[in-house]
Amino acid sequence: MSTVADCVFCKIVAGEIPAEVLGRSDDAIAFRDLNPQAPFHVLVVPLDHHENAAESAAADPASLGRAVALADQVAKEAGNADYRMIVNTGAGAGQTVFHTHVHVLAGASGMTEAL
Ligand code: 5GP
Ligand code: ZN
Repeated sequence: MSTVADCVFCKIVAGEIPAEVLGRSDDAIAFRDLNPQAPFHVLVVPLDHHENAAESAAADPASLGRAVALADQVAKEAGNADYRMIVNTGAGAGQTVFHTHVHVLAGASGMTEAL
């Protein structure tokens, strides 16, 4: 598994930075966003470090499918049958953490806010 020393999500994966974890799979972790933009705002993060979703897909095409499955699981466990998934790619699109992550948003405002 690849990790990057100064990557905040690699540090969360390694347990070096605390996070409120809602679920795990063999190759991904789901935790609450530090700065939630909706009543339910979780990040699903593949354990393996890649800069963005396209890079993760190139390295392991099924990894994003498994991330979607974990997103669905944690959203439904929290009572959210309906939710949005957002994946920012590139600084110009609002990406600030360059380790692949899927935003999972639910609750009234989660359906309308941009990210
Ligand atoms: P991006 O803008 O890259 O799509 O999303 C990065 C997200 O990571 C932001 O919503 C931000 O609030 C969240 N974030 C950044 N640092 C941390 C952290 O240390 N812990 C958690 N739980 N979320 C973080
Ligand atoms: Zn990383």
